[in-house]
Amino acid sequence: MKPTFMHRPVSGPFDDPCLFVRLQREKRAILFDSGMVYPLSPGDIHKISDIFVTHTHIDHFIGFDHIMRMLLGRDAVLNVYGPPQIVECVQGKLNGYAWNLIKDYPMKIEVFGISEKGIRHVSFHASDRFAPKEREGLEYKGIALKNACFSVNTAVLEHDIECIAYSMEEDFHINIDKSAVEGLGLEVGSWLTDFKRALRASEHDETVIHVQERDFTLGFLADRIAMITPGQKIAYVMDASPAEKNIERAISIADGAHTLYMEAYFLHDDLDRARERNHMTARLSGLIARNAHVSRLVLTHCSPKYRENREVLLREAESAFDGPVQFARPLSPLPFQT
Ligand SMILES: [Zn+2]
Ligand SMILES: [Zn+2]
Repeated sequence: MKPTFMHRPVSGPFDDPCLFVRLQREKRAILFDSGMVYPLSPGDIHKISDIFVTHTHIDHFIGFDHIMRMLLGRDAVLNVYGPPQIVECVQGKLNGYAWNLIKDYPMKIEVFGISEKGIRHVSFHASDRFAPKEREGLEYKGIALKNACFSVNTAVLEHDIECIAYSMEEDFHINIDKSAVEGLGLEVGSWLTDFKRALRASEHDETVIHVQERDFTLGFLADRIAMITPGQKIAYVMDASPAEKNIERAISIADGAHTLYMEAYFLHDDLDRARERNHMTARLSGLIARNAHVSRLVLTHCSPKYRENREVLLREAESAFDGPVQFARPLSPLPFQT
């Protein structure tokens, strides 16, 4: 079955972080962080509907203006998620420009400041010259976005300031065995949509499904005609202090991910420096990947001090993870990863 989304880094490990995710069926895209966004084509940028910002240090947020510039004038809604200060940071960027000519533009920016106390929602619409409009807040349940195909979950990490770690997870896939359907004397049809909906909603096994003048229980049909496979999961964990609580939360958000995109900012020999600068070490990133049982670790954010001997970071992460580790490779000219 075709995956719902495809993902690939825009930036290399010594660039300002940015991960691009294309949603296959919806012809739209999302970003995790908006650091080095310039390699993205205008066509890619025009698809962006959501940006999940880990925190607003300049290296993770500097590309926001470029995205906004490319979407301005389009009939677009751009949702921006991040820690609580994201609201003031977006407003600060918007305040940096004069907006006297955009009253007829349809563009809307919806900003969501995530904290464990709740989610603050503030709208900035071009028709209001991007004046902030406070909306009703939302309860925080660990989820930033959920729709019929995938969800984006969050964990709040400590980086002196709050830094949000994200995971993006497809719903499980339901494949229908058509010959088994026919074996029950049934014809495929729109009832399968209702059947799948009931499965996704985790309805009770005894729920009655009425099909072509006959009644079946959901459990009976699920056992005979449905093949359920887990969906794809990625996790994106950036700047965080090398503290126990952060490590536990990073393991939990990355649990079972096929790909974990993570910082490995320092070597473990530089742990004091890592504590001082509130970053993880390559060994800790490897241990997190190992304990979260991820399939692949991609190092996305490393201190420039290792630029000339980057392999040491890779080796340290590899020996702690005991699995495949690679550096994020910048956008051009690689194909998408699945
Ligand atoms: Zn930072
Ligand atoms: Zn950073």
